[in-house]
Amino acid sequence: MAQTITLDCPWCGSKKQTMDIFCVVDARLSPPGLYANTGEARTLSVKCRSCEGLSVATVDFTAGNSSRVAVGNSGDTTKYIDYVVFQIPEKIGYVSENWPEAVRESMLDAYEGRSPRAKCQSYRSAVEFGLREAGITAEAGQTLGAILSEAKKKFALSEPLIELCDQIKAFGNWGLHWAETDFAPEDAEAAQEITQSILSYLFEMPARVELAKKRSDEAKAAHHAPKDNP
Ligand SMILES: [Zn+2]
Repeated sequence: MAQTITLDCPWCGSKKQTMDIFCVVDARLSPPGLYANTGEARTLSVKCRSCEGLSVATVDFTAGNSSRVAVGNSGDTTKYIDYVVFQIPEKIGYVSENWPEAVRESMLDAYEGRSPRAKCQSYRSAVEFGLREAGITAEAGQTLGAILSEAKKKFALSEPLIELCDQIKAFGNWGLHWAETDFAPEDAEAAQEITQSILSYLFEMPARVELAKKRSDEAKAAHHAPKDNP
């Protein structure tokens, strides 16, 4: 039984995820990027119990507690953590903090899906929930098909974006109703890429633009501010 630690998983996005510890190294012996010059810091290789993703984290333990983390020990070390110095990879962007909760959950279901068929069903849910959360439809209980035809009529979404959503709807219908043809892994990859594009348009880009607007407003204000020595 490996020793465990609770960290945010950079692969599947699960917060406070239990991870098994497989290797422990003094952080003063670690390479740059994982190096920490404190006797209580350790570099750990850890594996997420949810998605099985491997990551490496340099963790500083509270005074006198670094010896508690050691391969061969068991139990949870989380209460002895002072703070996490580094974790690699950094968040890889599979899930986004800009997505609403229901979208995030569906994308995690897709990530963990046992088969390409299961993944495609979850991508369809992610798109349907995303369109609702983005306010594309106000009516509760509408099917994805109805949401899309209404959006088309009211010009709420551009034609190319409706095309993308339509394809995810088709993948979802195939997943749910058409057993004659099996999904290939490439089908699920295509569905993932298309879904990410839709979510990018609905949630990522508005957040980015918001931030960019704030930056350019600040620059404009600085440009027009009265000078100290006219
Ligand atoms: Zn994970």
